[in-house]
Amino acid sequence: MNATPEKPAAAKKAVTKKATAKKAVAKKAAAAAGQAPAKKTAAGKAAPAKKSTAKTAAGKTPAKKAPARKPESRVAMVRRARRINRELAELYPYAHPELDFTNPFELLVATVLSAQTTDLRVNQTTPRLFAVCPTPEDMAAMPPEKLEELIRPTGFFRAKTKSLIGLSAALRDRFGGEVPGRLEDLVTLPGVGRKTANVVLGNAFGVPGITVDTHFGRLARRFGWTTAEDAEKVEADVAEIFPKSEWTMLSHRVVFHGRRVCHSRKPACGACAIAPLCPAYGEGETDPEKARKLLKYELGGQPGQRLKPPADYPGQPAPPMAPPVAAS
Ligand code: SF4
Repeated sequence: MNATPEKPAAAKKAVTKKATAKKAVAKKAAAAAGQAPAKKTAAGKAAPAKKSTAKTAAGKTPAKKAPARKPESRVAMVRRARRINRELAELYPYAHPELDFTNPFELLVATVLSAQTTDLRVNQTTPRLFAVCPTPEDMAAMPPEKLEELIRPTGFFRAKTKSLIGLSAALRDRFGGEVPGRLEDLVTLPGVGRKTANVVLGNAFGVPGITVDTHFGRLARRFGWTTAEDAEKVEADVAEIFPKSEWTMLSHRVVFHGRRVCHSRKPACGACAIAPLCPAYGEGETDPEKARKLLKYELGGQPGQRLKPPADYPGQPAPPMAPPVAAS
């Protein structure tokens, strides 16, 4: 996919700069969706293969069975993987971490809170939390029940409170109140695993890291970059495909695509810009119209997850948390 300008007809419709940016992104996905069925995937699979080959109830001729796929060489897979990364970079030039933070400590806390919940919910919760305890010293000194109340909307609030107080005390006592910039130190903090450590390293310290969350793991398997389920194995497999300098942004792009297009249960294959490069094309909805309705966040015209997104984000910011309803 090239960074070609919008077609004149579509460009005429754009009325504001922001609207144009949004449209360009949505259009890219939609345009690719329209092309996908005609192309053969780089993995050697016929992209448009419909799911069923049995005669339909309406008596229509069933779609032909996709020809058997030739096994892909390692070199071809790596080439295809890097092309996916380039195409995702064009599709999401504004890819970024979707947790709001202003310093390494806030990012560390937000990442711990993001387990088993959405970044949106974390972003709606942290403004109050960081207003009350902005430093590790403040957080370590918080009475657990008070902290539990503050982070309750993110779920699993008792376990997360324990982690936050533990990691804040460790930062205070072992690291002079600063978040360390080394993986081997970060993973010694309570509640901090490789995923959290890599998020912090990549986004607060500029140290390249691959962040294997649920989206990244799922897409890496769909792309054929790995067959592993274990996050550490996925990380190791993907690290062998891409240069280190790409790791952090690759993680953001893949996660962006997973959240917007390649969903867990219903991937929007028919509106996916990288369908011709994806061996898993057809796992989800292939009808372009139906697939477009599955797109989320800025691609679906919805608010994003950050309350304060970066300036180049073409969507709307997320709304703050609604005030609690008073008990009657
Ligand atoms: S499985 Fe995901 S990446 Fe592959 S074509 Fe479908 S939506 Fe796109």
